[in-house]
Amino acid sequence: MIKIEIPNYVQKVLKGLESAGFKAFIVGGCVRDSIMGKKPADWDVCTSARPEQVMRVFNGVMPAIPTGIKHGTITILSDKIPVEVTTFRIDGNYSDNRRPDSVGFVTDITEDLARRDFTINSMAYNSDEGLVDPFGGGMDIKRGVIRCVGEPEKRFSEDALRIIRALRFAAVCGFKIENKTETAVREMAENLREIAMERVYAEFRKLLSAEKPAGILIKYRDVFEKILPECFGIERFDAGLCTATDKMPENFVLRLAAVCASAGEKINPVLHRLKADSKTIRRVCRIVENNKTEPPATKTDVLNFLHEFGVETAADIAEFRIFTDKNENSEQWKLAFLKIRRAVDDNECYSLAQLDINGSDLMKCGIKGRRIGTTLDRLLTAVISGKCQNSKVELLEFFNKNCCFLDDDWV
Ligand code: ATP
Ligand code: MG
Repeated sequence: MIKIEIPNYVQKVLKGLESAGFKAFIVGGCVRDSIMGKKPADWDVCTSARPEQVMRVFNGVMPAIPTGIKHGTITILSDKIPVEVTTFRIDGNYSDNRRPDSVGFVTDITEDLARRDFTINSMAYNSDEGLVDPFGGGMDIKRGVIRCVGEPEKRFSEDALRIIRALRFAAVCGFKIENKTETAVREMAENLREIAMERVYAEFRKLLSAEKPAGILIKYRDVFEKILPECFGIERFDAGLCTATDKMPENFVLRLAAVCASAGEKINPVLHRLKADSKTIRRVCRIVENNKTEPPATKTDVLNFLHEFGVETAADIAEFRIFTDKNENSEQWKLAFLKIRRAVDDNECYSLAQLDINGSDLMKCGIKGRRIGTTLDRLLTAVISGKCQNSKVELLEFFNKNCCFLDDDWV
């Protein structure tokens, strides 16, 4: 019999419900991950207790917050860690491909498991009853298969997000999608257009966090095209860039840039439509916009590169090109990346903020107005190009010696 080590704070929740006479199990992702030998991200509990009964069981024992009361979910803070407790339920009709019109509470766990998406996600467990696995999820994990619970077409027409979830689990688990489920994935992909982008993006993010996402991205190009035609449309799609995601570290920004780079100048609207956050959009856009930049070679080049882009973007661009450029170029970017890191570690000066002289120092020397800014810029250029050390004494000396500063635009 399979034995799952359930953390103490979760056991307290199960015991609380059981000692009040209700059934309680851990369910879904945490059971799947435990069987696969992975550490679950969070532990969900399902129970025969109705939401108001769950509230009563924990009243005065642990904080209970009705976070999703419509769907029967109460969040219990057990040892300050949130555990979602959801009443066994069945979903009513889906009239919009995404949300059940109603949910109904039931007392049989098998009915609850039947509404879940894939066999590997439709298992429950507690230490008395062991594994509850009515749809063969355990076997599908052994075989490495993603399979819908029930008729795939019906399940995908209820909630089209399951289509992208199938691809997400295939990528993250390194599993194959079972034939009937796969046929429905492709045939129903059009319905993905009706799903809120926030939900799609959350799944796409998890998909890109797979150890090797490229195989799924390439094999299901036609499905991804429904969400991101600018990147996955057949005339734009770049399998080489997708392949690069397998070599990249698990860095979402780099991988998203690889997948979306083929959108070219449309990158910004694409990322907005995807509902990416503004920081991610900025980072990805800068990587894609600078996709043709030459690698900085000399120390001055490196400092200019850092001056132009800042540390984060400079590192993003270099790292991206290490994985997406070929042979010689990739090697050059590797060197550039190391040089960028060294310049930062050595606290080399590439920005005005790091310059050992500032506006008030110059004012003391009688410089006024916009000349202050121009002078500082020129001194920074002198430091970056190695003509002057970054120390106040030397910078002042350099300034005094170089009447070249007094050219036309000084007047
Ligand atoms: P993760 O480890 O990424 O959290 P997970 O399997 O826990 O994966 P969740 O999105 O947290 O995924 O969902 C929890 C469980 O709820 C799933 O394991 C599955 O049983 C069920 N579920 C989630 N989304 C759906 C859906 N769209 N349709 C049917 N069942 C779903
Ligand atoms: Mg989860």
